[in-house]
Amino acid sequence: QQARIGLIGLGTMGAALALNIADNGFPIAVWNRTTEVTRRFADAAGDLATRIVPTESLQDLVAAIARPRAIILMVPAGQAVDDQLQALAPLLEADDLVIDAGNADFHDTNRRDAADLPFRFLGMGVSGGEEGARHGPAIMGGGRAEDWDRVAPVMTAIAARADDGTLCAARMGDAGAGHFVKMVHNGIEYADMQMIAEVYGLMRDGLALESQAISDIFARWNEGTLSSYLIEISAKVTAARDPLTGQPMPDVILDRAGQKGTGRWTAIEAQHLAAPIPVIEAAVMARNVSARLEERRAGQDRFGAAPGPVALDADALERALIAGKILCYAQGFTMIARASEGFGWTLDLPGIARVWRAGCIIRSAMLNDMADALAQDPGRNLVLAPFFADLIEASLPALRQVVSQGIAAGHALPALASGLTWFDMMRTARGTANLIQAQRDFFGAHGFDRLDGADRHHGPWGQSA
Ligand code: NDP
Repeated sequence: QQARIGLIGLGTMGAALALNIADNGFPIAVWNRTTEVTRRFADAAGDLATRIVPTESLQDLVAAIARPRAIILMVPAGQAVDDQLQALAPLLEADDLVIDAGNADFHDTNRRDAADLPFRFLGMGVSGGEEGARHGPAIMGGGRAEDWDRVAPVMTAIAARADDGTLCAARMGDAGAGHFVKMVHNGIEYADMQMIAEVYGLMRDGLALESQAISDIFARWNEGTLSSYLIEISAKVTAARDPLTGQPMPDVILDRAGQKGTGRWTAIEAQHLAAPIPVIEAAVMARNVSARLEERRAGQDRFGAAPGPVALDADALERALIAGKILCYAQGFTMIARASEGFGWTLDLPGIARVWRAGCIIRSAMLNDMADALAQDPGRNLVLAPFFADLIEASLPALRQVVSQGIAAGHALPALASGLTWFDMMRTARGTANLIQAQRDFFGAHGFDRLDGADRHHGPWGQSA
């Protein structure tokens, strides 16, 4: 019996995805650069071993898959993908399909899609970490519709489903569209995590709460509007104890965050698209600052004093987080809309919100309402959708209170504060860019539009200078 599909790269994600595919009844052939890993994987597959064909060369892998073949690549983004595509080129036929399911830079996916590859190619974002890959990830496909349709039976069988049964797998659009949407997903993930970390900091340093008390608060929030995977795991990690010292786990972990670059890509791409996503940018910045541990220590030695106490209650923090989250998602969806126009894709905003409702790291109850609001009017900023406008109105005073008190007491709140500042700009019809325009005209004769519409576009600067 020939395998329905193949998979290259039995690391954390590839191994879990292969088991998920086998578990859903599809025979799968697998190959890994290090053969020992393939052997160990096959040995540990248990009952699923009957549907797994371990292979020890690319030739054997290709020979084990039914024609026209489909092969998933689950290797690190970048050169490893190009190397694998090159290695597969002489072995595959024109109708065969390779699916890059890693976290590729969507520009690379666009390039590969446009390249003269001797086989068909799809880019596919997969979210949900190891657990998602094993039991149901969110899947964001990109490429030609007929290629997606060919693998859709496998992808839809293995993907997560939202509570209402809707599938969390879809083709987002042409070429790099799937990897683009996955990139913004990761940007939002950075921002969501950062805002939760900021509120955690206010509880730990501003309210002097113990880790277990913080965990209880997160667990309570997980029952309400903020119900989400990230809040759920925040409750779990703050409750956990270090087996070595007995201390709460967060208290023994160095405050230096890692990153693989997808948040940074989101921030860079947003600049190219002129799409304001300050909450995500703040989250990327915060990870970069966190990495500069020695400098921060020197800063504390010179300028002293940890952040001081704040007089905030858990309800205010919860509402601040609700407001921050809406602002962050509003920015992310606006960026996606911008890319859709800019790249000639037809990205389905409510469809994307629906795909993110289960399986992925940013899954949350609020995405149900976001999908509904975007379905009513995909072109409208989420903050202006009636449901979210009301929610922001109700939670904004808390965000303002939390940010102003926190900053006054010396807490760093980059994501929450930049969300608030963006919102204040977005609700101000008469801002301050009139002065910027005057300055630009003064030094560069760039001209300006007048409020009264008069046909005079330069100031009298020459006379007064
Ligand atoms: P791992 O490091 O666990 O596994 C990497 C796999 O790729 C291994 O099988 C490794 O083989 C293989 N590999 C590495 N370099 C090469 C190469 N040059 N040529 C061929 N094979 C190679 O990575 P993950 O499973 O975590 O990630 C895989 C992809 O999925 C990445 O793009 C990642 O960004 C993405 N991703 C990861 C998520 C996660 O939560 N971990 C979530 C979503 C996406 P060997 O055994 O020989 O080293």
